[in-house]
Amino acid sequence: MGGWAGRCYPALGCRPPERLRKNRRHTPSVPALLSPGSLCRMPRSRSEQMSRIRGKNTEPELVLRRMLWHQGLRYRLHARTAAGRPDLVFPGPKVAVFIDGCFWHGCPDHYVRPRSSSEFWAGKLGENVRRDIAQTRQLEDLGWRVCRVWEHEVLEDPGRVARKVTRAVKAQKWRADDSWRVLRVTPLDREGTRERRHLRELRGRARSRAVTRIRSTRKWKRSRELGPSPYRNKGLRA
Ligand SMILES: [Zn+2]
Repeated sequence: MGGWAGRCYPALGCRPPERLRKNRRHTPSVPALLSPGSLCRMPRSRSEQMSRIRGKNTEPELVLRRMLWHQGLRYRLHARTAAGRPDLVFPGPKVAVFIDGCFWHGCPDHYVRPRSSSEFWAGKLGENVRRDIAQTRQLEDLGWRVCRVWEHEVLEDPGRVARKVTRAVKAQKWRADDSWRVLRVTPLDREGTRERRHLRELRGRARSRAVTRIRSTRKWKRSRELGPSPYRNKGLRA
């Protein structure tokens, strides 16, 4: 394993400090632009690994950014606002864009309840969804247009998401789409195969609802436009 004690230096683009760089055993194989924490293939605990996933510069974020940039839209990255740092910020028209990870933010189609440490992950999910609700409301109360898009939407059809953001930036009148999130999941049998999922609409436009379904680990389909994931076969997460 790496000659520098298995530590990752995200602030340095995941490269070891100069003094250790002479030791060439740690060589990132993909540009440091990508999610920094994922570059070091050091053994890590699951929670340590998971905690690094909600990072900046994730693949869906890069895909969307590239597309918007080519369309001539200019934005700031992770700029500070009254309610945290959205992934993209258009300060003039006051538009905030969040690209929400399907696991972390409770995507109704792709959230998968982990079978181990279930209490910990349930707490984490509830915390994230409540934060999303508070953050969205706070920004909208201050006159911002808040676009919350799922990572699967970007990977499935980036053009559609880019059009959605463009409308928020340019349209005179705009209304955010409804956005349902899984707030918590209760297993209904010992194996945890059947589960009840409690869903909430982000802006409270509809009453919370619950659905019963079979635990699924269905993934999204990448759009053809994007081609195969650059992360594939590199031991990195897509
Ligand atoms: Zn999803």
